[in-house]
Amino acid sequence: MNGMLKKVAWVAGIVALGFLIQYPINKTTTTWESWSLPLSGQTIVIDPGHGGPDGGAVGKDDTSEKEISLAVSKKLQSYLQQAGALVYLTRETDTDLAEDGTQGLSNRKSEDIRNRLNFIHEKDADFFVTVHLNAIPSTRWRGAQTFYYPKEDHSRHLATMIQSEIIDNLENTTRTPLAINTLYLLKNAEVPGALVEIGFLSNEQEREELKQESYQQQMAASIYEGMLRYVTEEPEEEE
Ligand SMILES: [Zn+2]
Repeated sequence: MNGMLKKVAWVAGIVALGFLIQYPINKTTTTWESWSLPLSGQTIVIDPGHGGPDGGAVGKDDTSEKEISLAVSKKLQSYLQQAGALVYLTRETDTDLAEDGTQGLSNRKSEDIRNRLNFIHEKDADFFVTVHLNAIPSTRWRGAQTFYYPKEDHSRHLATMIQSEIIDNLENTTRTPLAINTLYLLKNAEVPGALVEIGFLSNEQEREELKQESYQQQMAASIYEGMLRYVTEEPEEEE
């Protein structure tokens, strides 16, 4: 080691020692455990679709979208919290987000969706997912699908990771993530987000699955794993 290099190493050593003496004292509030969890520091909003007077889609046996979206959202919340994330649900009960005095379902619905958007921004979410179910006149179609607004790569990455985990874990759909321009929440949110349509209430077999606790658990786990990959993996070129 030449003289100059020695001097630099010596100064660096003193500086490092200075930091060690000064800083460890203030770290008592943060445990090693909370730092080592994969979603520590992430704030996530989960939006269970519909609620209250707005039941959303309904199956032939009166199974309603609002009930299953909430059940799956709560299971998803629990996975995310165990991974260290700070998680907020836009609703935790059978209610919408309109003000008490607002009259008429269509007035309530537009107020409700604006308040969901405000909720995401107020909570300062890093990203969000909104959970819905489909119902269409044809009983034939089934399979979960994830949607995103094609404004930036983060939302696409989030939707791609979630859909990929749903495909791999549930082995009952080959649907691919889809860009959509018209959904208010995805379009207007200032942070990345995805909408997961977790299945069709209009398909009898899928409806029966969606009502089962174990299937809801698997669905929540798949969405969770997709969100985890969104945070921990870089997007691939071909996404
Ligand atoms: Zn819906």
